[in-house]
Amino acid sequence: MTASLAQRLPAVRGRLRSGALLAKTSWFRVGGAAEALFSPADLEDLTEFLAALDPDIPVTVVGRASNVLIRDGGVPGVVIRLGRAFATTRVEGKIVEAGTATASADVARVAQAAGIAGFGFLEGIPGSIGGALRMNAGCHGKETRHVTVAARAVDRTGRLHDLTLADLGLQYRRCAVPADWIFVSGRFAGADGDPAVIATCMRQFRDQRERTQPIRVATGGSTFRNPPDQKAWKLIERAGCRGLRRNGASVSEKHANFLVNDGTASAADLEALAEDVRRRVQAQTGILLEWEIHRIGRPLGGSVG
Ligand SMILES: Cc1cc2nc3c(=O)[nH]c(=O)nc-3n(C[C@H](O)[C@H](O)[C@H](O)COP(=O)(O)OP(=O)(O)OC[C@H]3O[C@@H](n4cnc5c(N)ncnc54)[C@H](O)[C@@H]3O)c2cc1C
Repeated sequence: MTASLAQRLPAVRGRLRSGALLAKTSWFRVGGAAEALFSPADLEDLTEFLAALDPDIPVTVVGRASNVLIRDGGVPGVVIRLGRAFATTRVEGKIVEAGTATASADVARVAQAAGIAGFGFLEGIPGSIGGALRMNAGCHGKETRHVTVAARAVDRTGRLHDLTLADLGLQYRRCAVPADWIFVSGRFAGADGDPAVIATCMRQFRDQRERTQPIRVATGGSTFRNPPDQKAWKLIERAGCRGLRRNGASVSEKHANFLVNDGTASAADLEALAEDVRRRVQAQTGILLEWEIHRIGRPLGGSVG
């Protein structure tokens, strides 16, 4: 954190670190440092911090960084990562209430143990439930919106908002809530289910994922959104991009919409490879793929991205 930024940040009870490295906690294992990284002690710490923070200082929230590409030059301003205080779950009838730092997989497991059906798809999505709300994450024909009842978010000025499902405007990998609002909790509902049957279904999902996705390597999930009535991976394959490389970055041999870092790629390698794929797909099919992965921060030596 530059001396001037440090002086401009409000006092907090939680953890505030300067120059915190983000790469090792990002799924892609790339990216520069956060100028400042804040993990609030609790909700009040978060709302008070935002209320007192100079509105000119940029704020970026990250969850488990499984759908972001953090650029090599790092993230200016304050990165907020919710920690343990926001990783709570509570079951009430067929409702699961979860703090948004809770892993989506843990929400699925809590629901399964309580005999609540409908959450199994979340088990294989490697992010937080906050990230699942923002991305309307989904698989196996289900999306986060199918189980969401309500969510609570904090805006950039520290004000709390209780949002209904309709307010969230969840669509395919999209959410209508302003990009700088931070989800702090959500309420999710399922149906009556038998824990053993749900567990079997989750195991099948897991096996299927293991067969079709590169989940044990450094990746960021689906790079591009599926265009209407099309599969991005099929278009990428048709354009001959499976296995395409740029330094340590490659298009996965297992799932062509996934990029993989062999351990030596930079964020710039991954981003340039994805842009190359977009160009080739457009040339081959006339379709311009849209990024699903959120790119944050700035390139090395560059300006804010
Ligand atoms: C191996 C692998 C498999 C995957 N499979 C799937 C899949 O099947 N289906 C699917 O949909 N996705 C999949 N993903 C992508 C990713 O896991 C999901 O999008 C996930 O929900 C992102 O959660 P996260 O906590 O990692 O969010 P991040 O990657 O940290 O952030 C993603 C976006 O959400 C925002 N965000 C995060 N937390 C909050 C919050 N509390 N409040 C507001 N905004 C927030 C961030 O600012 C960012 O814009 C996969 C990723 C990987 C690496």
